[in-house]
Amino acid sequence: MNAEPDFESFEQAEFTDDDEPPSGGKHSSPVIATDLIKLKNDTTRTFPVSENTKDFIQKFYPGTSLEEWNNWRWQLKNSITTISQLKKFINLNPDEVEAIDNPHHSLPLRITPYYASLMGKSDASDPIRRCMVPTINELFLSPGESSDPLEEGHYSPIPNLVHRYPDRVLFLTTGFCSAYCRYCTRSHMVAKDKCHVGVEAWQPALNYIKTHPEVRDVLVSGGDPLTMSDAHIEYLLQNLRAIKHVEIIRIGTKVPVVLPQRITQNLLRILKQYHPLYISIHFTHPAELSPETAEACARLADIGIPLGSQTVLLKGINDDVNTMKQLMQGLLKIRVRPYYIYQCDPIPGSNHFRTKVSKGIEIIKGLRGFTTGYAVPTFVIDAPGGGGKIPLLPEYYQGEVDGKVILKNYEDKTFYYPNPID
Ligand code: SF4
Repeated sequence: MNAEPDFESFEQAEFTDDDEPPSGGKHSSPVIATDLIKLKNDTTRTFPVSENTKDFIQKFYPGTSLEEWNNWRWQLKNSITTISQLKKFINLNPDEVEAIDNPHHSLPLRITPYYASLMGKSDASDPIRRCMVPTINELFLSPGESSDPLEEGHYSPIPNLVHRYPDRVLFLTTGFCSAYCRYCTRSHMVAKDKCHVGVEAWQPALNYIKTHPEVRDVLVSGGDPLTMSDAHIEYLLQNLRAIKHVEIIRIGTKVPVVLPQRITQNLLRILKQYHPLYISIHFTHPAELSPETAEACARLADIGIPLGSQTVLLKGINDDVNTMKQLMQGLLKIRVRPYYIYQCDPIPGSNHFRTKVSKGIEIIKGLRGFTTGYAVPTFVIDAPGGGGKIPLLPEYYQGEVDGKVILKNYEDKTFYYPNPID
């Protein structure tokens, strides 16, 4: 099965989502002149459409109704995947044109119309544009870069499953994402035919988990698992939950950020049956904190799912204290607890995205003490070669003298803590 779902035949697939909004494709009624639209089958909750989004729809998708726009399948079917589509939204520079036209970059182009509405039109340094639009820099290999820097292949006893830590596994359930980040750690497998979706394809991984009682935590990832049909998601969760020793299930996703319309009432009905369920959401920049994304996160939080964020540190995009502080504080406002800042993994062509490691430590130093502790994530490097996540901290602990621990506080002032006597 190809990593790219066939959106046209989705409704006739093995599973159907009966209460999903009807799939779009042809335009119907014009944009509704209201701030809020009722989602189908939801009499209690409305989905916001920001002023920015409404302007964008009128300019680039005239004649599209808000019902269509808020249909996640319409968003997928109408995603931007070619240079000619992209040229309608932004003024591409020659560097971007050359990169998109080049067949050698490792990830295809894919941006949902919703996420494109957040993107700068003429500024090539716009953070969301830089994350989504290929540049020629992707084609240059720098020392130390490799297609599978974390050596997940080495820790993969069977296809689609990585078992690197003693008590938990990573289950790669799909190779598809609704938007492809240019710095993706798994660019070696996403958008490729390496990860198959479906009941049959998942059996070896499910059997592995069943026969390994030490696995108490399963991280369902990909690609992006929330791009799959409701029925596929339910099948997976049901089967994982049926395994007695699986204590918690986690889902890693960027969907609430790039395709918030996916968080439908039917999906929520499914997810809330499989607690304890955690969701880690991939955020990059404060520009992503739109009313739509806030609503998607509120819906998930309201059904009792703890939400955490994961952010890749990216040069020229979010590598300064103020941007990170805005993002982390903004996340708390939409009920997402900042969890990790990752040093960017050395995938091929990532040099232009990677900061010095000291930059991440500087950012943590600029957050800790200067904002709410909940807004301070852990800065980690996922060690190349499969060493796992290694946290990096500013040097608050400075050693010991005369039975006292020497400590530096956030203002660089020195304090002493009396260690207990043995
Ligand atoms: S959403 Fe995640 S898996 Fe998909 S391209 Fe972005 S970083 Fe990679």
